[in-house]
Amino acid sequence: MSKKLLNKDEMVPGAVALGGTMAELYTGSWRIYAPVTDFQKCVHCLTCWSLCPDSAVVVRDGKKLGTDYQYCKGCGICATECPVDCIEMKLETDLTEQERKGEEPQERPDRESPRKK
Ligand code: SF4
Ligand code: SF4
Repeated sequence: MSKKLLNKDEMVPGAVALGGTMAELYTGSWRIYAPVTDFQKCVHCLTCWSLCPDSAVVVRDGKKLGTDYQYCKGCGICATECPVDCIEMKLETDLTEQERKGEEPQERPDRESPRKK
């Protein structure tokens, strides 16, 4: 089912947005710093997953796979709270292609990707 998103002039004061509409808001465009995970040190405690405000941490079978940069806004909460300090926040412009590829999973096994709609 296709959903029409209302602009601010069409919204009724006090209205509640439809559930799931955040999936269509690509907060990754806000990012200045990007998290880069050292998977040699990661203990898959999933603290980053539970605290990420944009559900950008991708997990499969209880293991962290990486970060969905379409949604990661670079807030740095994951890096601050990681108990083994294995997430480095790097300037987006300094990210190497290898770091970007290593961090970003090709699929979102934890949820249906809006890219497939
Ligand atoms: S908080 Fe750190 S150790 Fe835990 S899953 Fe995330 S990156 Fe890995
Ligand atoms: S920096 Fe970390 S906590 Fe913040 S949005 Fe990105 S993945 Fe989530």
